[in-house]
Amino acid sequence: MSEDENSAVGEQPAQSRKKAAKRPPGAPSAKKSAKPESHLAMVRRARRINRELADVYPYAHPELDFRNPFELLVATVLSAQTTDLRVNQTTPALFARYPTPEDMAAAVPEELEEIIRPTGFFRAKARSLMGLSASLRDDFGGEVPGRLKDLVTLPGVGRKTANVVLGNAFGVPGITVDTHFGRLVRRWRWTDQEDPEKVEAEVAAIFPKSEWTMLSHRVVFHGRRVCHSRKPACGACPIAPLCPSYGEGETDPEKARKLLKYELGGYPGQRLSPPPDYPGRPAPPLGAG
Ligand code: SF4
Repeated sequence: MSEDENSAVGEQPAQSRKKAAKRPPGAPSAKKSAKPESHLAMVRRARRINRELADVYPYAHPELDFRNPFELLVATVLSAQTTDLRVNQTTPALFARYPTPEDMAAAVPEELEEIIRPTGFFRAKARSLMGLSASLRDDFGGEVPGRLKDLVTLPGVGRKTANVVLGNAFGVPGITVDTHFGRLVRRWRWTDQEDPEKVEAEVAAIFPKSEWTMLSHRVVFHGRRVCHSRKPACGACPIAPLCPSYGEGETDPEKARKLLKYELGGYPGQRLSPPPDYPGRPAPPLGAG
């Protein structure tokens, strides 16, 4: 979970949120939205949101830098309680020193801890990395397994991490429920569940499997750039007409535009090596900004 994800802690329940502001052109009328939405209407609206997000973020991608499944697994473990940016700034030195599970399993713990210190909780993370590397070496022939039931046996690897690795390194469709994903799908009334596994199951039932991985990236991209935990930029949000929570954040278009982050706000992204179609600037290396 990243630092920006942590900002969702203390999010208010829907009932106590402030009254929705004036709706943008095309938004459902107050009268219409007062009537409970049928399940079918919600599914149609959810699929429209996914299509709109695909238009807005055709370049959506995992925001961790990696070159192979082992690097993605390690980067995902390191991303707990910090930003993807900080992980991306840390992993070049880490993978230069320990390129394989065998190398990492044989690390001197203090040296490994020192390299990953910028990501926080570095002692526990070093233990996980050495433990999972030893398990890859001893139980899986030095390769990252491509099955959920194997991945979750590795130290420090839960269902969320396993889904990230399966979806992005093995092409296995998966929904990744982090704090951004949970917050946005509840704002969109796709589910009212809080438990990540229940959120995953309810959202999975709305979309075909082939959409799951890219849907996850699009939703997280939107959460990081526009629909922030504390100050969603509703006035600059391309899916405002489809959102039942419009007005929870800033509705003035000019003020809302100033809340946009990363490439939408004209700032660098989180990856030092973004995919070629990424329209923003790469992130700076550690210590450069
Ligand atoms: S920014 Fe506002 S309008 Fe857009 S998805 Fe979030 S809550 Fe809805």
